Amino acid sequence: MMQVITAIEEMRRYSRNIRGEGKTLGFVPTMGYLHDGHMSLVDAARKECDIVAVSVFVNPVQFGPGEDLDRYPRDIERDRHISEEHGVDVMFIPSEEEMYPDGYSTFVEPTGVIVRGLCGLSKPGHFRGVATVVAKFLNITKPHVIYFGQKDAQQSVVIKRMVEDLNMDTEVRVMPIVREADGLAMSSRNSCLSPEERGQAPGLFRSLKRAEDLVAGGEYSADKIRTEMENMMRETPDLRIDYIEIVDAHGLMPLDRVKENTLIAVAARVGRTRLIDNIRIGKTRESEA
Ligand code: AMP
Repeated sequence: MMQVITAIEEMRRYSRNIRGEGKTLGFVPTMGYLHDGHMSLVDAARKECDIVAVSVFVNPVQFGPGEDLDRYPRDIERDRHISEEHGVDVMFIPSEEEMYPDGYSTFVEPTGVIVRGLCGLSKPGHFRGVATVVAKFLNITKPHVIYFGQKDAQQSVVIKRMVEDLNMDTEVRVMPIVREADGLAMSSRNSCLSPEERGQAPGLFRSLKRAEDLVAGGEYSADKIRTEMENMMRETPDLRIDYIEIVDAHGLMPLDRVKENTLIAVAARVGRTRLIDNIRIGKTRESEA
C-alpha cells in the first residue's frame, strides 16, 4: 500500500526509518498532474533504490507575477492512482502553509552564468524559487538519489550546482526527455492547450530536429542554426518564440559554434501556454540525457 504524507514532521520520520533500516531512498519532486515523463523518473528510482518517494507540490515561489500559478493543472486523485500503479512507496503532498508558514524568509539564490540566460532571463526569480523548494525537500526527505528530467535542462544544471556548492549529501540523476508520438515533450502544461494549439506545439521539437540535422550536415555556426530554427518556428503561425539559445550543456555559457556537449534550448508561447524543449548535441556523458 502506498502511503500518503502531508506533514513535514511525518515525512522526516518516514525517511529516518528508511535510513535506519539500511534502505536507499529515491526521491522524485514534481508539481503533479503526472504523466509518462514524471513516471520515467519514478521507474528509474524504482530500479535503483529500495524506496521511492514522489512529492506533489505546486511551488508558488517559482511562479512570477502574471504567470500561470492559478491555471496550473491539478488532479491529486489521479496523481495518487498513477503513482500507486508505478509502485511508488510514499507520496509527500504538503500544503503551501506547511512549506511556507507565516514569517517564512529564507531563500536559496543561484547566481552567475547558469541563471543569466534561457528561463533565468525570461522568468526572473524562477530558479530562486526552484532552488529554495528543492533545498527544503532535500532537508525533509534526505534521499540518497534525487531524480530530474532533462526536459528542464537549466533546472538540472542549477540543482547539480546547488548540491555541489552547498555540500548536500545526495546524488542528482537526470533522465532523458519523454515525448509524445509527434515529438512534443510531455508536460503537465500540454493539458492547457486547445486542440488547435496542440497541433502547433510540435513546432518546438521540429525546430530542434532541424538544428540537429544542420549539425549532422556540418553546420556549426550558432547564428546560422538559430536563424534556421527561427525561420522554421515562424512557419507555425501561433508559436511566439521566447528564446532560442545555444549553450554549453554543463555551464550554460553561450556558444558561437556548436561543439561537444552543446545544449540547444527553446521556449515559446502557444496561446497563453509557455512551452520549453531542448536537445543535446554530441553528448559524451552516458549517464546524462
Ligand atoms: P514538473 O512537475 O513539471 O515540475 O516536473 C517534475 C520533474 O519531471 C522535473 O524534473 C521535470 O524535468 C521532469 N519532467 C517533466 N516532463 C518531463 C518529460 N517530458 N520527460 C522527462 N522528464 C520530465
